[in-house]
Amino acid sequence: KLGNATAKAELGRATWKLLHTMASRYPEKPKADERAAVKQWIFLLSRLYPCGECANHFQRMLKDHPPQTSSRAALSNWACSIHNIVNIRLGKAEFDCSTLENVYQCGCAEDPSEVEG
Ligand code: FAD
Repeated sequence: KLGNATAKAELGRATWKLLHTMASRYPEKPKADERAAVKQWIFLLSRLYPCGECANHFQRMLKDHPPQTSSRAALSNWACSIHNIVNIRLGKAEFDCSTLENVYQCGCAEDPSEVEG
């Protein structure tokens, strides 16, 4: 069965966007429970990801490249490098991870108390 390449690509774009945007707002100095939570979320995502071929590959990548959760920069760079592994595998260009900060913005305030009107 061929599947639907357009739907698979859309799901991929949406998932990468969520992953990179979450990483861009992950704490600079995460607490132990925040580190555990994001790690679990990534492993659960790899288990539940609704494209079997992608999920298998994702799980194998996680074994070789475990999530780096010690800081915002560590998690953001980790997400960028696993995305680059997929890019290479699919014959796409590698992304320059030094430009990440300007690309992924959540549209929310840095501090939850800074509520925008
Ligand atoms: P995407 O790769 O979806 O990227 C979206 C945008 O993110 C790009 O336009 C660019 O602006 C930015 N970007 C690109 N690279 C990076 C990076 N390294 N760091 C930060 N931002 C970046 N598809 C398959 O066909 N087979 C698979 O096995 C497969 N496995 C996948 C596994 C996972 C975990 C995920 C989330 C997706 C997978 N996909 C797979 C989907 C695939 O990665 C793409 O999402 C899809 O092909 C659409 O590609 P795209 O060119 O629109 O850009």
